[in-house]
Amino acid sequence: MTITPPAAPPSTSSAPPASAQQLFNRVMTPTYAPMDIMPARAQGSRLWDTAGTEYLDFAGGIAVSALGHAHPELIAALTTQAKKFWHVSNILTNQPALQLAQMLCDATFAERVFLANSGAEANEAALKLARRYALEHSSQDKIEILAFDNAFHGRTFFTVCVGGKAQYSDGFGPKPAGISHLPFNDCQAVREFFQQHQHKICAVILEPCQGEGGVTLATPAFIEAIRAGCDQYNALMILDEIQTGVGRSGALFAYQKFGVVPDILTAAKALGCGIPIGAMLTTEKIAASLSVGSHGSTFGGNPLTCAVACKALELINHPALLHGVNAKSAQLIAGLQAINKNHQVFTDIRAMGLLIGCELTAQYGGRAREVLIACSQLGLLTLVAGADVIRLCPPLNISQQDIATGLNKLEQGIIQAFGL
Ligand code: PLP
Repeated sequence: MTITPPAAPPSTSSAPPASAQQLFNRVMTPTYAPMDIMPARAQGSRLWDTAGTEYLDFAGGIAVSALGHAHPELIAALTTQAKKFWHVSNILTNQPALQLAQMLCDATFAERVFLANSGAEANEAALKLARRYALEHSSQDKIEILAFDNAFHGRTFFTVCVGGKAQYSDGFGPKPAGISHLPFNDCQAVREFFQQHQHKICAVILEPCQGEGGVTLATPAFIEAIRAGCDQYNALMILDEIQTGVGRSGALFAYQKFGVVPDILTAAKALGCGIPIGAMLTTEKIAASLSVGSHGSTFGGNPLTCAVACKALELINHPALLHGVNAKSAQLIAGLQAINKNHQVFTDIRAMGLLIGCELTAQYGGRAREVLIACSQLGLLTLVAGADVIRLCPPLNISQQDIATGLNKLEQGIIQAFGL
């Protein structure tokens, strides 16, 4: 891997960095531990590094690159808008933003859309709106937000606290109050919580499938129990579809599979297919609790990002593509089951469309990252979800041939990582 160092290194060290890793350590905050691969270009389901090594991409930029890399129609949407104007801020609106909001409303339960730049920001908007709505429509003590163990809702301070993982939320001073966590998929615990706190509950937030938390699917009964509690006690149900949304589940949004409609839905990741964007969707009545100046963003609704998202949504919200997601999911699951038959390494293979998690048996527990590293050395990019789960998020338009090739590499990676 080669990388050109900056002319004047910003650190006090005089020696030039010998590698990208050294440069990373010298100039970046120590928030990430990237793999030792420097991307040079990417096309479809494939990526090449600066040394020319080819990788099959089953990571998809963490469930973002839903249409693969360098999709010609997305490039055309971006460059067409780039030649018109890039940015005006929210002192003006713009046609791509209006078109995107209209498309999202047409395709879902929503009547109003707030555009942001990331998933965390979409959730931040959702949580703030839920609090504001509750205070406006009920009493001052209706502030309780119910979330679930192993959730992930983003990295702003409010969203890490709602996510609940101490590793992400501790050490930053006092946390916002009124946040509770229950075990995921525990219907009885949810019912008891509602009975105990009743009208103090402002909102319940959940992922239809916990992506970062281990690819754990919500059961229909769990989603129904939350909806019922929210209806009874006038709380808002917030569905975080940042990872499952925009086609990954095999429906445009996962709630459409469950048949339970949320009050607020958040999307990001695949909505921009790699261009940073987030969206909060809700009803007219709930959105009315926001007023001019009550929330905002300089870049939210940026015309470049919205032009790309409009095209992404148009291409993904298509019966053939969504049907393909389900067919490809079945192919991947069958392949993973065959790998497991050969090596007995998984206790469970879980999938919501093309969000797939393979949980390692106790014998190989804690070693998912070793598989990820071995696969990368064989030219396959994968993800993990915690220490025990190998996570796969290939592009939604990946070919059957590429799935077969990736499965082969994954099997070899498992063999190498575990010395089988
Ligand atoms: N919510 C879920 C379910 C996610 O998976 C993520 C990111 O992984 C987020 C929120 C945060 O999104 P972002 O990283 O775009 O802020």
